[in-house]
Amino acid sequence: MPMPPYPLHCYTKSCGKPAVYKIAARWSDGITAELKTYALSCPDCLATWFRSSRAKQVACRRARGEILEPPGIYDLERGKRDRALHRRADLEEQLV
Ligand SMILES: [Zn+2]
Repeated sequence: MPMPPYPLHCYTKSCGKPAVYKIAARWSDGITAELKTYALSCPDCLATWFRSSRAKQVACRRARGEILEPPGIYDLERGKRDRALHRRADLEEQLV
């Protein structure tokens, strides 16, 4: 796999470590669907980002016909399409 031009960093401002996870939720309005990114995180900050992302999703207002699933944790792999990202249900269970 080619090296990315620049590393992606954890969203925690004071952290600065490389991000290895993506917290994202499947969203759809019935016509198009996408993975909405909530945060990129290093392993240390993952629990914080995961919980705040879930809380944000619960508080999010949806329009009629709009679907927003609870955010999940995905392995962050540059250059892979969202659909191909590996979901880490094992980590999600530990952090709920
Ligand atoms: Zn971090």
